[in-house]
Amino acid sequence: MRHRLETAAKKGMLADSAMIAHGRGEAYDYLLGERTIPSAHFATQVALHTLKNAQHPVLSVNGNVVALAGDEILLLADQIKCPIEVNIFYRTPERMDALLSDLNERKQRLGLDVDILGSHPDASIPGLKGPRAKCESRGILASDVLLVPLEDGDRCEALVAMGKTVIVIDLNPLSRSAQRGTITIVDELSRCLENMLSMETNGLPTASEYHHSETLQAALNEIVNGMKNKFSSE
Ligand code: ATP
Repeated sequence: MRHRLETAAKKGMLADSAMIAHGRGEAYDYLLGERTIPSAHFATQVALHTLKNAQHPVLSVNGNVVALAGDEILLLADQIKCPIEVNIFYRTPERMDALLSDLNERKQRLGLDVDILGSHPDASIPGLKGPRAKCESRGILASDVLLVPLEDGDRCEALVAMGKTVIVIDLNPLSRSAQRGTITIVDELSRCLENMLSMETNGLPTASEYHHSETLQAALNEIVNGMKNKFSSE
């Protein structure tokens, strides 16, 4: 995963803070045992059901998402039949170009027919200032359900305030995004996407069966209980 980020950084796809965000994720993944915990598996099932039953689902991606799981996000968009929108916090024309061309190369290699948006932002997310508010009217603005892996807390909150169902993937159950999202999957991004892609899609649980605060608490409990007596039996 680190090597993927190094390669992406060399291609100009990442913001300087990308490694910091990744390092925080790695730390939480250690504490969670580097596995999909049961509450995250259930949240993943609910998220997939919600995406599949949305009117206008969109997968919003940033640099880390493209670097770590570009193929998987394209395969998921293909399965759900929805667009991907590149939506980055530190937006520069160079980074946008690097991310859009990386995704388009992957799309060609995989032979997929997926709409990749982000190059023509003609709308903005209310409540946010500057370039990070930019989005496309036929993408994020029009969406009813949004998957926002590794999202920044402010933008997550602004999207929820627009009335959207916001599905967050974040290893840190204490992050503002994890708390403010509608459905939060506390799992590592690529592991979560692989789970979604291989999941049985019949009989998935619905959003009415999902309890947000219990899901976050369950993740914290896994961390705390996993640490108890960690070394006393050795
Ligand atoms: P917030 O703004 O939501 O309070 P933050 O400031 O930590 O949180 P960022 O630095 O923008 O947010 O995002 C990094 C988040 O992504 C962290 O919470 C980190 O745990 C999580 N993260 C990093 N890498 C991964 C990964 N591979 N899979 C899942 N989550 C990850």
